[in-house]
Amino acid sequence: MAIGAGRAAIMSPMFSVTATLDRKRRGLALEAEEINRFIVGVTNGEVTDAQLGAFAMAVCCQGMGTAEQTALTLAMRDSGRVLQWRGLDGPVLDKHSTGGVGDWVSLALAPMMAAAGAYVPMISGRGLGHTGGTLDKLDSIPGFLVQMGLDDFRALVQRNGVAMMGQGPELAPADGRMYAVRDVTATVASAPLIVSSILAKKLAEGLEGLVLDVKTGNGASLSNREQALDLARNLCATANRAGTPCRALLTDMDQPLGGAAGNALEVREAMDFVTGNKRKGRLLEVVLGLGAELLVLGELAGDRETALEKLTRLLDSGAVAERFALMVAGQGGPADLIEHPGRHLPEAKVVRPAPAASGGWVAHMDTRALGMTVVRLGGGRASVSDTIDPSVGLTDLPDVGDRIEAGQPLCVVHAGNTADWEAAAGRVAAAIKLEDEACAPGPVIHEWIR
Ligand code: URA
Repeated sequence: MAIGAGRAAIMSPMFSVTATLDRKRRGLALEAEEINRFIVGVTNGEVTDAQLGAFAMAVCCQGMGTAEQTALTLAMRDSGRVLQWRGLDGPVLDKHSTGGVGDWVSLALAPMMAAAGAYVPMISGRGLGHTGGTLDKLDSIPGFLVQMGLDDFRALVQRNGVAMMGQGPELAPADGRMYAVRDVTATVASAPLIVSSILAKKLAEGLEGLVLDVKTGNGASLSNREQALDLARNLCATANRAGTPCRALLTDMDQPLGGAAGNALEVREAMDFVTGNKRKGRLLEVVLGLGAELLVLGELAGDRETALEKLTRLLDSGAVAERFALMVAGQGGPADLIEHPGRHLPEAKVVRPAPAASGGWVAHMDTRALGMTVVRLGGGRASVSDTIDPSVGLTDLPDVGDRIEAGQPLCVVHAGNTADWEAAAGRVAAAIKLEDEACAPGPVIHEWIR
């Protein structure tokens, strides 16, 4: 394993943080070595919070060229340990999503890739605001460990083909510091900082291929399609320049992706998906679309069509469900979770349908509002220190284009008490618009960025 922070020892006394800040403030391009030295200083504490805030603001206002973007990403990646893999009989692959509502794709995709012969060391995040996070979903499984040392994590991936955990202090620590400063300096929404932050963690996994699910639409952090496309292109180009083959899908978040939103409820839906009990069409399309890109990138399939056939066969044979169970048991969760979810996953006290006041066709869904409904039920975080009730949320969400009669459920609300249920039912009714005219849903995959 390479330990990039060790490069602090070679930091030249000639390097000046203030000169670097001055150059970036004036819109000049920084040299790769200058960026390296700055990030070494971020990692070892020589760069102060004030200087880091000034750097983030200067980058936010002046942007970064492609060479600077790549240098920043590599420097952040190398601020901690970078996993190296030897003696594996398959490629090391992973996926990242920019975050959505009812998006538990990772829970199915990672074991699916492992079943196909890849190794998936998935470093995931927590949810904040209206979108959920994979770690919060995994936390709803009793006993499931989402924090461990990198060596234990690597051993799990080698044994089971797949493991999932949080970032931890060993991996891209400069990103942890930078993110905290961005959060309080209004610099979160900066494309170069977002790209280096996402990729630093993913590239530290030592990947041979990465696929990105970049969301757009009213439930995405980037609702504007052009902006989301720019981000997808920037992420792909930077990862490729940094040596990790990368492709992206631009996918729709004008409605929740799955039929469930809420942590334990999404785990349950993911298990229904891998066991074949229930597979929602839009979700299947995204899981297979991302999976096929990864199989081709990892040379486990020659082309997209062969990849799709292989993945469908693996899903239908039960091999993906088996791999999911192996991952859960390997990380301390119940070995019989798939067979007996009701024994293990928490269930909310009040579970009742929210009825439609009048009949019609689902024409529009305010996805952000549905995500915030889950947060207000206690299933998400408005601020980082909030604790989560894993049992609450929404299930049986409709798709745009579905017909719902008066009095029939818009969805089922899982709440901790009756007052929360009532408030959530009102929010759901406001978020799901029914009209008299039938309407067709738009595509779930807008574009492939290769
Ligand atoms: N996810 C990250 O890890 N970093 C960002 O800046 C945005 C999303």
